Amino acid sequence: MNYVFSPPVVASVPVLGSAARFAVHRIYCVGRNYAEHAKEMGFSGREPPFFFMKPADAVVPVNAEEIGTLHYPSLTANLHHEVELVVAIGKEGKNIPAATALQHVYGYAVGLDMTRRDLQNDMKKQGRPWCIGKGFDHSAPIGPITPVEQAGDLTQAAIWLQVNGQERQRSSVAQLIWSIAETIEHLSAAWALQPGDLIYTGTPEGVGAVVPGDLLEAGIEGLSLLRLQVV
Ligand code: MN
Repeated sequence: MNYVFSPPVVASVPVLGSAARFAVHRIYCVGRNYAEHAKEMGFSGREPPFFFMKPADAVVPVNAEEIGTLHYPSLTANLHHEVELVVAIGKEGKNIPAATALQHVYGYAVGLDMTRRDLQNDMKKQGRPWCIGKGFDHSAPIGPITPVEQAGDLTQAAIWLQVNGQERQRSSVAQLIWSIAETIEHLSAAWALQPGDLIYTGTPEGVGAVVPGDLLEAGIEGLSLLRLQVV
């Protein structure tokens, strides 16, 4: 194939215990999937799941044992952290029932749905798309993917985030309003899922701002930590 310019490098994420990387196809995100976070955003927490997307090359992949770099984005004075369980899809499918949804999962990772909250709030008020608040460059930091065989059962796993050693977010994956399997069912009714898709499954309560110089440490019990410095 001839191209008029060189195709972009494929965005990818490290896989724990493997030299091969997970090539990213799309990034889907679930909005308000923990009741306490829905409340802090001013909602009841009882509604069907809804989705938004980030560009595949918004990932900021960080290796285990490393501290990644997160560049403070333009246009915002209120950059928020949202720690999330990320589901990595390894098998295609559409209209996937929840009962067989987990067969489509390649692995899991810790991710951050970084948010320009001031811009997102402006867009919400005006009824406009969230892209500028959610889908900006470097908005999807992610740690290494742990394949399912090694990850074990995450349904009750603790999920937390610290900034400069101080805890900001702590909950349990058990608090998800829509489980991983149910999320895949809903998502795959709207889009055909492909190997390489990432699903950021939503954040628990305690979201807040970070500034240059902050050190973020995000964790989910059973998965590799995600550590980043904001510059
Ligand atoms: Mn989120």
